[in-house]
Amino acid sequence: MKIALVGYGKMGRAIEQLAQGAGCTVVARIDRGAPLAFGGAEVCLDFASAEGILQRAESAVRAGCDLVIGTTGWERERPEVERIVQGSDRGAIAAANFSLGVHLFLRLAEQAALLFRPFAEYDVGMYELHHRHKRDAPSGTALAIAAKIGHPDCPAVRCGSIPGTHTVLYDSPVDTIELTHRARGRDGFAAGALQAARWIAGRPGFFTIDDLVEEALQCT
Ligand code: NAD
Repeated sequence: MKIALVGYGKMGRAIEQLAQGAGCTVVARIDRGAPLAFGGAEVCLDFASAEGILQRAESAVRAGCDLVIGTTGWERERPEVERIVQGSDRGAIAAANFSLGVHLFLRLAEQAALLFRPFAEYDVGMYELHHRHKRDAPSGTALAIAAKIGHPDCPAVRCGSIPGTHTVLYDSPVDTIELTHRARGRDGFAAGALQAARWIAGRPGFFTIDDLVEEALQCT
C-alpha cells in the first residue's frame, strides 16, 4: 500500500522505518513548507502540528487519500475536519495515541475499576513518567486513564529519556496491585499508525482508534 507521510519528524521517521515490514511503501514525505503533493498515496499519515490541519485534511481527501491523523492539539478544528471527511468518499482515523498496547491497557484499567469498586479497603492511585522534554503534564494518555477509572489526580514525573510509563495501583493494608504500561520507544505508536492505515484504506467515514480496537475484539 502506498502511503504519504505528512510531518517528517520523529514520528514520520519512526513510521518510515517500520513501513516496509508492514507492507507499505512511502511515496511522499511532506514536511513544513513543502507542497502538499501526495504522490498517488492511498493513505496519508499526518504526524505534524495542529496549525494547518484543515488545509492538509482537505488536500489529502481531494487527492484521494484516506487519512491517519496522529497529530495532537487540533480539538478546536475537529468538527470541521470531520465535516470535510464525511462530506467526501474518503475515511479518516484519529488518535492522540496510536499505541495498541495503551488502548488495551485502558480497557484493563476500566475493568479493574469495576472489579475493585465493591472493596472499600482498596484505595486507587495513579502516576505517570515521561522524558524531560515532554511539555504536557499529566499526559493525554494519563487523562484518558483517569477518566476510565474515575480518579482525578495523576502526579507526573518528567525525567531523563523515559518514553512513557503509566501506572494504576490499588493499595490495601495488606497488599498492592499494580497495572503498568511501559512504552519502550516510538515503535508502538508507529506500528499502531501503520495498522490504522491498513484499516482505514477504502473505508469511508470518520473513526477513532476505539473503533479499530472494538472491531478486533468483536472478531475474536
Ligand atoms: P517532531 O517535532 O519530531 O516532528 C514534527 C514534524 O512535523 C517536524 O519535522 C515539523 O517540521 C513538521 N511539521 C510541522 N508542521 C507542519 C505542517 N504544517 N506541515 C508539514 N509538516 C509539518 O514531532 P513528533 O514527535 O514526530 O510528533 C508529531 C505530532 O504527532 C505531534 O503533534 C505529537 O504530539 C504527535 N504524536 C502523536 C502520537 C500518536 O500516537 N498519535 C505519538 C507521538 C506523537
